[in-house]
Amino acid sequence: MSEKHECITCGRPFPEGQGIIMNLAGRKLEFHSKACAYSFLRELLLSVPEDCVSSPLREVYTKHEEKLDNLKKKAEKKI
Ligand SMILES: [Zn+2]
Repeated sequence: MSEKHECITCGRPFPEGQGIIMNLAGRKLEFHSKACAYSFLRELLLSVPEDCVSSPLREVYTKHEEKLDNLKKKAEKKI
């Protein structure tokens, strides 16, 4: 028995194992494609007050910057 999901952005139904499903703040978010997920999450993110988003944004941004720095360092060592 495969569970059916419904994209909350466009309403398209999709089967288990496809699309993107994530749990956020006790709510299950189901998207049939990355584009639908992006459009929903973008709207969500832009509706969050800036002072709420600035601290987690800095954290995630820094984490990714460090990851890229490490990748670059590794690449340099190989040469
Ligand atoms: Zn969709």
